[in-house]
Amino acid sequence: MNAMTLIDRNLHIRAIDTYVDPTVPRARAIITHGHSDHARSGHGAVLATADTIAVMKTRYGEDCAGRFQVAAFGEPVVIDDVTVTLYPAGHILGSAQVLIEHKGQRVVVTGDYKRLPDATAQPFELVKCDLLVTEATFGLPVFQHPDPKAETARLLRSVAANAERAHLIGAYPLGKAQRVIRLLRDAGYDEPIYLHGAMVKLCELYEERGVALGELRLVMETSKAELAGKIAVGPPSALKDVWSRRLPDPVLAMASGWMSVKQRARQSGVELPLIISDHADWNELGETIAETGAGTVWVTHGREDALVYYCRQRGLNAEPLNIQGFEDDGGEGEE
Ligand SMILES: [Zn+2]
Ligand SMILES: [Zn+2]
Repeated sequence: MNAMTLIDRNLHIRAIDTYVDPTVPRARAIITHGHSDHARSGHGAVLATADTIAVMKTRYGEDCAGRFQVAAFGEPVVIDDVTVTLYPAGHILGSAQVLIEHKGQRVVVTGDYKRLPDATAQPFELVKCDLLVTEATFGLPVFQHPDPKAETARLLRSVAANAERAHLIGAYPLGKAQRVIRLLRDAGYDEPIYLHGAMVKLCELYEERGVALGELRLVMETSKAELAGKIAVGPPSALKDVWSRRLPDPVLAMASGWMSVKQRARQSGVELPLIISDHADWNELGETIAETGAGTVWVTHGREDALVYYCRQRGLNAEPLNIQGFEDDGGEGEE
């Protein structure tokens, strides 16, 4: 069996009848991370990191899978004659790449990943392989993410310059919100940060699992006057919601890799776009493909075509995967 028959294009590992991030309920699933386009409820058995399992239970309930098996990073799990090992993907808390080994063949499924430092996620580890199944959310050369520290500094300058206004940052409740809060803390911002109710459970979970976020308060429990000059974090939908009227003349900000697309920022009424991405940018995607040593690359989850072309130009076998149910994030799906 070679690497290409060990796993198929639906990310089904035939020898052990197990799927990676299946988009419909399956008897056995390996889940890379807790975002809803990867982690669904209703599987029979789930293998994932302890953090990912905790995220799934928080979002979907304790009984969202028949049973759970924790896999620690770097610790092989032997299932019949297949070995599965999870490695950090650096995307959100607990996010993993999946290494599948069988008779000397190595397949890596990256899930979503990034290689820039992030205090809220375990740092990405490069894993050598024969077949790489890579994400491609930002798989176009125009995507070159700036330093998140510089974006955070820009936000803090805007806060300092607008003492009478609040700043409302739209951020996905799982991963992005906690990362933005932590970036602010690491930049020395120690004022309370005010949350939309939708962020509370996952912020608490991050805290419980060792990610310090500093003092968090609820917008709902704070007077409008008190919020002047302060930072609030809510889901992207909150920017347009009547809820945002609780804030004094808010500067609308959004933290997303998509904020590099100016038209998107304009369309969503964002005054202060913050380009903070939890995905690899074009250069990281290319470097990672080269460093894994993979001879075959399957590209999924985003802009497949440019990356497939890039790989083929370099003499690699490359194919797009068109897996149903993975959003291409065109609608600002979860990052
Ligand atoms: Zn994803
Ligand atoms: Zn994700």
